Amino acid sequence: MTPALWPAPCADRVRTVTEPTPTHHALAPSLEATTMAIGFIGGSGIYDALPLRDTREVDVDTPFGKPSAPLTVGEFGDTGREVVFVPRHGPDHQRSPTTLPYRANVFALKKLGVTHVLASNAVGSLREDLPPQTLVIPDQIYDRTKHRDLTFFDEDVVVHQPFADPYCGDLNEILADAAESATDADVVRGGTYVCIEGPQYSTRAESEFYRDQGWDVIGMTTIPEAKLAREAEMAYATVTGVTDYDVWKEDSEVTLDEVLENAAKNETAIKETVEAAIEAIPEDHACDCHTALDGTINTPDDAIPDATKDDLEPLIGAYVE
Ligand SMILES: [Zn+2]
Repeated sequence: MTPALWPAPCADRVRTVTEPTPTHHALAPSLEATTMAIGFIGGSGIYDALPLRDTREVDVDTPFGKPSAPLTVGEFGDTGREVVFVPRHGPDHQRSPTTLPYRANVFALKKLGVTHVLASNAVGSLREDLPPQTLVIPDQIYDRTKHRDLTFFDEDVVVHQPFADPYCGDLNEILADAAESATDADVVRGGTYVCIEGPQYSTRAESEFYRDQGWDVIGMTTIPEAKLAREAEMAYATVTGVTDYDVWKEDSEVTLDEVLENAAKNETAIKETVEAAIEAIPEDHACDCHTALDGTINTPDDAIPDATKDDLEPLIGAYVE
């Protein structure tokens, strides 16, 4: 891969809907009417507990294949807000962090009109003072992944976006406030999430190295999700729940049993956080995330094939002829 150049100035779950269908078309005005649709990408255990009404499943096709599962769309409580849920790993956790369809998941949310995405991730702790069941709202990422598609724009159109602040600062604040007000958990604002390829956990040497850098939590799934959300001009932030001490701590050896046990305990706090955050996002919220492609497309318009413009219309339609 060539190094990036600075851009030139230029309740009822039985119904499954395959879009495009009249139901899909009916969805768009409803999302528009609320001016905001909120996506949630998380563990499959959580949305079952979210107070969604009139839910339906929408089977979305994307140029990047199918999402992890049909998306569940429902109205959140009495807010009138539509929430679109994607179980990141599939309904039965069949997708590994390397092979799961990040691009299809994010593209599908964009296609359904989502403007704000809340995510949750299970993470290991790299700090003594971040014990299991702490909630951390990270504000930085160190990418150690190796085998993932990191962009929607790898053919025919080249985009160089700033990514210095990988999460939406506004959503980070909203998530942290929500976690503090709605849960009993210890909440940490900010921190660096090291995203490794997995699926194995780290070696001790790797874990010590990450700690030496002063990084905070370690996981396998925020990359490329955060990058793709930025490319899709959606505000994106995540609440992470600590499940273990990775392998750096004396006598600690992260195991799946330990991770699953603490993930289950974190689930309630994450659900409470996401619910409070969904209610707290201001109706008229707008931020730079929503115009993040402006001035970043490095391929002249007349050099982008029409077929690519069609495929990527939900992403770049506003920027190409
Ligand atoms: Zn933002």
